[in-house]
Amino acid sequence: MSKIGFIGVGNMGGPMARNLISAGHSLKVFDLSEEAVNFLVQSGAERAASVQDAAKGVDYVVTMLPVGGNVKDVFLGDGVIGSADPGTVFIDSSTIDVDSSVAVHEAAKAAGFEMIDAPVSGGTTGADAATLTFMCGGEKAIFDKARPILEGMGKNIVYCGGPGQGQVVKICNNMIAGSIMLVTSEAFALGEKLGVDRAVLQDVISTSSGSSWIVQHGCPMPGAVAGSPASNEFKPGFMAKLMLKDLRLAQAAAEMAASPTPIGAAAAAAFQQHVNNGHGDLDMSSICKLIDPDVK
Ligand code: NAD
Repeated sequence: MSKIGFIGVGNMGGPMARNLISAGHSLKVFDLSEEAVNFLVQSGAERAASVQDAAKGVDYVVTMLPVGGNVKDVFLGDGVIGSADPGTVFIDSSTIDVDSSVAVHEAAKAAGFEMIDAPVSGGTTGADAATLTFMCGGEKAIFDKARPILEGMGKNIVYCGGPGQGQVVKICNNMIAGSIMLVTSEAFALGEKLGVDRAVLQDVISTSSGSSWIVQHGCPMPGAVAGSPASNEFKPGFMAKLMLKDLRLAQAAAEMAASPTPIGAAAAAAFQQHVNNGHGDLDMSSICKLIDPDVK
């Protein structure tokens, strides 16, 4: 069993860290929120006084932070890279821009440390149940070292390629999910305006060529799929503002790679408008309110 410094124990990091404790690892946790740390201390973690303290005397450092700027703040300068003992392996599970991810990989390597980026899908439910999918970027040998730790938090652990490639896979997936959610909302609103019941649309489309995970499990029309966020007043699930963040990351990456993404750009603009309309905290399926504000 390993000693792990865990930094960022919010909605995702909290349950992930708890699962590492359940798997038998010793955890030292740090977060700007004392309340978030208190929950973990109650579950058996040691409280770290700072980022630097969390990074010292451990075999691995795992980070689960909101955006690229946070990850750079925590790792660079006198942060994790300036404080960790030689041989410590870094695992960044935050969803961040490819540029920041690569910059932190390079700084870690220059200081003699091993690192992977390992963003996740599966949401808070997957974090709670330790069934997350990890998409990992970095050297394969480092991935192999990190794997036993990731196995304490997830089920599907995939090596994607070099530094930052886990982030690439994550934003490509979410660009598809956001775009499909938008076009599914358009199709269901159109079908209903033309007189077909949403249950009939869902029944037929979920076994036809327009099917997707979203049509089958996360259909944006309330009542079309029992147990979906749409059938539960659009409670998340995956918040629309987080989808917007990921769609923007995809747009930034597309610009960097000069790769055209007209559908992804339309989805990013639609989610931006939806968040501006005050719906950022609802599940991403609430994007159907942009197509039909009176949807019920
Ligand atoms: P969150 O806001 O609940 O948690 C982030 C935590 O990081 C907070 O507790 C915050 O206090 C802490 N933090 C921020 N800056 C810090 C710093 N400098 N030092 C120490 N702690 C710091 O966010 P979350 O929902 O847990 O998401 C974390 C990451 O996971 C994001 O990149 C998000 O895109 C990604 N993600 C989230 C979900 C989801 O369903 N919530 C799903 C997949 C991926």
